[in-house]
Amino acid sequence: MTKKQKKTLIRIIVTAVMTVGLIFTPVDGWLRLFLFLIPYFIIGYDILIKAVKGIINLQPFDECFLMAIATIGALVLAVTGDGDYLEAIAVMLFYQTGEWFQSYAVGKSRRSISELMDIRPDYANIEENGKLIRVDPDEIETGTIIVVKPGEKIPIDGVVTEGSSSLDAAALTGESLPRSVSVGEQVISGCVNLSGTLRIRTEKEFEDSTVSRILDLVENAGSRKSRSENFITRFARVYTPAVVTGALLLALVPPIIRILCGTEALWTVWLYRALTFLVISCPCALVVSVPLSFFAGIGSASRDGILIKGSNYLEQLAKTQIIAFDKTGTLTKGVFEVTKVSPAGISEKELLQTAAAAEQFSTHPVAVSLRNKSGDIPQDIIPQSAEEIAGCGICAKSGKDKICVGNGKLMERMGIEYIPETQPGTVIYVSKNDKFLGSIVISDVIRPTAKGAVEALERCGIERAVMLTGDSRSAAEHIAAMTGIKEIHSGLLPEDKVGIVARLIEEKKTGRTVAFAGDGINDAPVLSMADIGIAMGAMGSDAAIEAADIVLMDDDPMKIVRAISISNKCLRIVRENIWFSITIKLVCLLLGAIGFANMWVAIFADVGVLVLAVLNALRCQIHRNDAV
Ligand code: ADP
Ligand code: MG
Repeated sequence: MTKKQKKTLIRIIVTAVMTVGLIFTPVDGWLRLFLFLIPYFIIGYDILIKAVKGIINLQPFDECFLMAIATIGALVLAVTGDGDYLEAIAVMLFYQTGEWFQSYAVGKSRRSISELMDIRPDYANIEENGKLIRVDPDEIETGTIIVVKPGEKIPIDGVVTEGSSSLDAAALTGESLPRSVSVGEQVISGCVNLSGTLRIRTEKEFEDSTVSRILDLVENAGSRKSRSENFITRFARVYTPAVVTGALLLALVPPIIRILCGTEALWTVWLYRALTFLVISCPCALVVSVPLSFFAGIGSASRDGILIKGSNYLEQLAKTQIIAFDKTGTLTKGVFEVTKVSPAGISEKELLQTAAAAEQFSTHPVAVSLRNKSGDIPQDIIPQSAEEIAGCGICAKSGKDKICVGNGKLMERMGIEYIPETQPGTVIYVSKNDKFLGSIVISDVIRPTAKGAVEALERCGIERAVMLTGDSRSAAEHIAAMTGIKEIHSGLLPEDKVGIVARLIEEKKTGRTVAFAGDGINDAPVLSMADIGIAMGAMGSDAAIEAADIVLMDDDPMKIVRAISISNKCLRIVRENIWFSITIKLVCLLLGAIGFANMWVAIFADVGVLVLAVLNALRCQIHRNDAV
């Protein structure tokens, strides 16, 4: 509970106790008014102040204004003998109780998102004169050796230089299985070191490390509003003045008509009805519960390692009609095995080493795999510079030599004659100074859950699953057959992928969306252009975290299905709340207008509905695993 919540709670209790006491105090007249005004001001002073401020700022029509006139009106009626002081206090009391309850619920679900904040490291250890000292991670420069002891969080992304251990990434990914790491491996910040002491050479500054980027993203998630939220804000802006006008008419028109008809005006009866009408129609249940639902949904997703950058994306996810997948690194692991080496005039080892040397500077999964497979590379062939040609390959300069490594398209672009390889898999051709050196066939492994995810997505109502890849037709067909994807576009350059997604967006039905799931390597433009960009296994790739709308912290395509099911559930709850509160309010308004509802019914229609709607919204937070 925050300080403010505690204070409000005390005010609520004091007012309740005082009011009950006053009910049994036999005083009359002005003294009674004075005594009742004490709890009224205790519970309502801030609302009255806000209402006055609203009037001064010429923006009077909010809930505080409604509550202020309703209660002041009730007090006036009570003074004239036609009402009860109790009602005025009760309206304020229950309104404050509802507000308190709502702020407590919002606080709770905000905290559940912040549970992720548990990944925030407070310090980093560095060694000085044989002693460990703690410093602010912000002050660590790239390339520093930091020491992470068992039980501590890794503060900054880097490479292990000494020690081995297992890491718990559960706070980041929701994946509970620890991962073992040893010398030479990359580690990301936010993981907890479980067993051995690690020495890590930092590769980034703290503010560029995974932890900081994720926290940034989570903290800003609230700022992008869903259409439902925007609708509710606009709705309240029109609705409240309309209700006030309605109440005014209700208080004036019937008595005037009665006077004209020659009967008694009954001013106070109609004023009471108008006030009841005002209390009933307070829109707070909607204003509060809709954003809360989305907030709770985002919280629930983040606990599973699904980061959603705003409630608009959570809302659109349920409307996905077409989903396009990148192949390498998304449907597949992006970890290649060399399956065939066909050198032309040199040894196999030489071919592999030449290729790996040229790939020194690339982060593409092909490059990483080739480097891992080639063993130590002689120092003299390591290139001085390299130029990566997205979707094709890489050309490196080593001394006077120019080495090109990439697919058939690259060879054609360079005008190099090559021997096409027919074995299935991703084929990498190598050339040196425009002379063909041979080809390497590598093959990727499909992610274990890819097939299940594609099937589950179809069950979730997604009509088309499409694969986009820069790889060859045969490699694409192979993966498509294994995952069950029927629509394939292969041999694409990054800009071709953009073109195809643009076409998919044109082809979609109105009101539905196109999602793209990629790993951020050669597909960041598509990630940002699709209606919903989903970055898979994005923990390493900054570009993907930047460009995507939804970030999956682990590499599991099944998480897309889960995100969609959370989205479905949230939208259902939002709809339930909208219909439920509007229906109850309309019924009560009708009853109030014809005189069948008193202030107590009004209080239920306002606060009761608010509490029920908030409780319902909180269900977005609870999402069972089997609901996938
Ligand atoms: P995908 O769309 O399947 O993720 P990319 O667009 O990243 O694939 O790459 C398409 C193809 O381009 C790869 O299959 C590979 O043949 C080639 N390629 C891209 N970058 C490199 C590289 N650094 N080295 C070798 N080949 C590469
Ligand atoms: Mg890719």
